[in-house]
Amino acid sequence: MTCAKCGKAICHDEAGLTCKLINRGATEFFCFDCLGEMFHASREQLEDMIRAFRDAGCTLFL
Ligand SMILES: [Zn+2]
Repeated sequence: MTCAKCGKAICHDEAGLTCKLINRGATEFFCFDCLGEMFHASREQLEDMIRAFRDAGCTLFL
């Protein structure tokens, strides 16, 4: 799987965060860098979001 914007390989967490931030049925996925740019969030903030979703039991981040 690669980022739809910059073409970089993305990990499971990045795909999961794309679903959360954009929509559950997203067919295009973005890397942390591009998500950060789109949502004006730092890499640290994105990782905090993933932690929060995971703590909430979100199945996208198992
Ligand atoms: Zn990217």
